[in-house]
Amino acid sequence: MTRHQFLYKLFYIFEKVHCHVMVLFSTPGFLIFEMSVVRPALIEIYKPGIAKQCLHIFLCMFCFINVTGNMMMSIYNDGNLKNKRLKPTEGGDYCKLCETYRPPKAWHCRRCNVCILRRDHHCFFFSRCIGLYNRRYYLLYLAYMHITMIYSSYYNYYFVSSKFKDHGFFLAVLRILNPVLRFFIPEPMATKDLYVLLFLFNVGLIAWSAVLFRFHMRNTIRGVTAHEHRDPAKNNWRDNLISVFGRRWYFAIVWPFVDSPVDVETNKEY
Ligand SMILES: [Zn+2]
Ligand SMILES: [Zn+2]
Repeated sequence: MTRHQFLYKLFYIFEKVHCHVMVLFSTPGFLIFEMSVVRPALIEIYKPGIAKQCLHIFLCMFCFINVTGNMMMSIYNDGNLKNKRLKPTEGGDYCKLCETYRPPKAWHCRRCNVCILRRDHHCFFFSRCIGLYNRRYYLLYLAYMHITMIYSSYYNYYFVSSKFKDHGFFLAVLRILNPVLRFFIPEPMATKDLYVLLFLFNVGLIAWSAVLFRFHMRNTIRGVTAHEHRDPAKNNWRDNLISVFGRRWYFAIVWPFVDSPVDVETNKEY
């Protein structure tokens, strides 16, 4: 095994571990933290009414189901051509590695080691390719991630700032952003510093999801894939959106488990 192959393998293992940690621990862990630590603390301070509390729990669950649901569906619906023996199609070619004919716009991913229908890009965070069948889930994951992070940052700000007095919160943020400041403002690390770190992570994810969503949504509206983002727009924007979100897009955008078929029959380019 060459050094390049070894590093490639190592990166692949890291990608898989990262994906599983995110799926199995980080996302449910975040909800558990919000519900069992942040919520009781804020109820103690602000004493909201039962209607407000019920609305908050409903919105939290709605966001959680859409983030997790779209994430799981993105991972398990990548439209790969593994063990599929397709017939030759006009404009398509043959993949020697998958031993099958593939339609145009289906590419072989080196990391997934399989051809993906209408491949958009390989996503490091999901350790999967984004293509014909999961582009809808991927975009909605990013959108709901953005909404969830804004929503949770609002509550987390009040939660974390309640742990500090005067300018303590601001100084704690500075000490985390620049650890050298610890020599000038000596204060032992405490649990509240971890809360500040989590809050900063929360805010960072708002920016991360916004940048990715803007790039991929713009490509979707223009009818191009991530690799073609510099190409001129194709087709009508409404058809482009329906070719990704499916015919039942109005359900798909609020519920990840609804069936919203993409019209592969009329879309000759898949
Ligand atoms: Zn292939
Ligand atoms: Zn891939």
